[in-house]
This record gives sequence, C-alpha cells and structure tokens, in this order.
Amino acid sequence: MKLFYVLLVLCLFVPVYSQTKPPTESAVDRFLRYVKIDTQSAEDQNTVPSTKKQFDLARMLGKELNALGVQNVRVSEFGIVYGMVPGNLPNNSQAPTIGFIAHMDTSPAVSGANVNAIIHKNYPGGDIVLPNDKAQIIADDKNPDLNNLKGDDIITADGTTLLGSDDKSGCAELMTMIDILKQNPQIKHGNIAIAFTPDEEVGGGIDKFEIEKWGAKFAYTVDGEQLGDISDETWSARTATVTFHGKNTHPGTAKGIMINSLYAAGDFLSNFPDNAPNRPETTEGRVGFVHPYSSAMTEETSTIKILIRDFDLSGVAAKEELLKSIVAKTQAKYPNVKIDYESKLGYLNMKEVLKNFPQLTEYAIEATRRAGITPEIRLIRGGTDGSNLTARGLPTPNLFTGGHNFHGKLEFNSRRGLEKTTETLVNLVQIWAEKSK
Ligand SMILES: [Zn+2]
Repeated sequence: MKLFYVLLVLCLFVPVYSQTKPPTESAVDRFLRYVKIDTQSAEDQNTVPSTKKQFDLARMLGKELNALGVQNVRVSEFGIVYGMVPGNLPNNSQAPTIGFIAHMDTSPAVSGANVNAIIHKNYPGGDIVLPNDKAQIIADDKNPDLNNLKGDDIITADGTTLLGSDDKSGCAELMTMIDILKQNPQIKHGNIAIAFTPDEEVGGGIDKFEIEKWGAKFAYTVDGEQLGDISDETWSARTATVTFHGKNTHPGTAKGIMINSLYAAGDFLSNFPDNAPNRPETTEGRVGFVHPYSSAMTEETSTIKILIRDFDLSGVAAKEELLKSIVAKTQAKYPNVKIDYESKLGYLNMKEVLKNFPQLTEYAIEATRRAGITPEIRLIRGGTDGSNLTARGLPTPNLFTGGHNFHGKLEFNSRRGLEKTTETLVNLVQIWAEKSK
C-alpha cells in the first residue's frame, strides 16, 4: 500500500516521458538520413568550412529547423547553422537561454562518402562482422558496452566507411528533441538556442561561432559517447615549439663553418624521460604528458613541436619547466646552436570555469537519471568545441550521444542510444525550467 502512494506521488510530480506524443520523425530515421550526406572535413585548409560539402547538410538542417517552427534560423557564411526555439514559460525571462550544439562534419581519418548504414535488429550478443569487409569486426570483448545493448537495434556502417555517428547522432537527437517539444506544448521550457557546427574534427570552425548573437547563457555540446557519459573536464593544453638554429654551407667546403642543427635536435629528443608519467603511450586517467609529435629538420634550422597536456594548470607549468630544463641541457652541450623555446595556449580545462557553474553538470546528471540511465562523469583526454566556448565565456560541458568507436570503420550507435539521448535532452530543458521558477 505504501509503495502505491509513493508511485502515485511520483506520477503526480514527475512528468512521464512515455506519455509524450512521439516526434513526426524518429531520431533513428533522421540519423539514417544525415549519415548519407558526406560531410568529411579536411586538415590544413584556409577556409571555414574546410570542405564545401558540409554546406549540404547545413542547408538541410536549416530547412528542417524552419519546418519545425524554429525562429531566427540562418546558415552563416562559415556553414554554422543557428536557430532559437522560443520558450513557453509564463515568464520566459526567468529561465536562462540554454544552448545545444552538435557538429556536422566527420573525421578526415576515414571516408564518410556513400555511407551504407546497417541496422542489426535485436542484437543477440557476440561479435558483429561488418558485411562488406569481413576483417572489420566489432568484437564484444573489445567493446564492453555491447553487453548492455542486447536486444537493441545496433546501427553500423558496412565496413568500408565510418558511420558518422560522431556527430550526426547529436544532430539527429537535437532535431528530434525540438520535434518532441513542438508536439508536446505541455512540456515547459525556456528559450533554447540550437547550433550545428562544421569543422569540429579539424578545429577552427568554432572560432567563427557568434556567441553573443546566438544568445545562450549556458550551453551543452552533444558529442560524447556511451549513454550516461557527461564530461565537464578536458585537458589544459599548450603546444611548445623548440627551434634549433645552426649554420649551413656546402658540405664539400664546410670544414670549420657548418653547424648542423639536427644533432642538437636529436640530443634534445634523446633527453626525454623514457618512462611514465610523461608520455601518452604510458599514461591514462588524470595523468598528463609531454609529446613530441612533429618535426622539420635541415642543417640550418630544425624545429620540434611538442604537445603539453594536463588537467591542472600547475601540471602544465611543471611540464613546461621539464621541457625548458631539457633545452638547457642540450644548449650546454651544443653552445654554437642557438635554441629558442616558445609555447602557446591551445585551450583551457573547462573545469576552471565550470566549477563556478556546478548546476550545468548537476542538471545533466538529473536529466540522465530521469531517462533511466546511470550517469557517469568522464574526463576527456582531449579538447572539445565546448573547451573553446567555455574559455570564451560560454560555459559548455559535453553530453553523451550513445555512440562508440569514433573516427573509424567500427563506429556504431543504437536505437536506444539515439532515443535515450533524445529523452535526456527533453528532460534537461524541463529541469532548467523547473529550477528557474
Ligand atoms: Zn565529435
């Protein structure tokens, strides 16, 4: 009897998602449509977007936003799609405008052309062999989350391309959230700013993002992986460049003149500590690293570029000191080679800002729980578009999409992944409205 009353009280106070009217098109159908459009971005281009074809999806999403009654829809010259879903609260000004962002491009690492998405209905467990390249196997021992997806419909590519779940899942989930809100005016929410961005995979697209004009006070990127994963911490990142200045001359007449910068550069690299906790290949979790990743060498001038990554600014500073001490050691050994060290900021750990706005993560956790998913706070050993936006004054943690194995042919998502993420998003805008009363 007691349980009955508890349930009754719950039903009265918690809006029941299962009673909402369905969207006009499911998240899965939207997703299958978006992945057919090739939006692969390209490295080292001078334009944003880096590839013109990203406009194909941008224009399609712009049209769909208009059809759903979203206001102020526009596709900018940089291929960024903006829109505003007006709130329906009695006093809209009480609730902050919350933004949501998904990116349209797919990784340059693997082709995203002619994606042939396959739905593996009612997944029974075990390995999934992709039909058009049998060497591509989504193995259950390497993908522990597959265990949680038995009975689900799993969506993969056919083994010849990536799927594009990263981040067309986010695009489909956001669009379906808007659709559900339109069909269900009883769901109360404040203003919701929407954006779809190009060139997330190659960086640079987000630099063109017009934060003020968009109007969100807080935002979320919908670009994470496994159901429940919420991220409010990324690396703090710097990139160091060490330049070794030698002196070149014709090798036939070089005696007493030539100073070959390559030897100093080689010495510098050989002085890197060769054990944990300094390298990406020996670290995980919260442990940062220094990582030489690119070099150009001639007798006259050699340069080595080095990533510096840590979650704490003090850790970044300590790693810079380490690099400078290695430079000093090489400089002492090669006094005729002038060595310059410089470093620049890549992005800041978003936690440096988000610690002042804990409600963003708390509400996301609550929205996830209401969808019946166990939330998990996961560190990102990388950066997101949200790191950039957070550093520019728009606090932006990252939410899951249900996707797995990004940037490769083994990428997958599932019906439940797409639907539960959408449900979480609907919950989240409601929670912001509830808390703003
Ligand atoms: Zn992504």
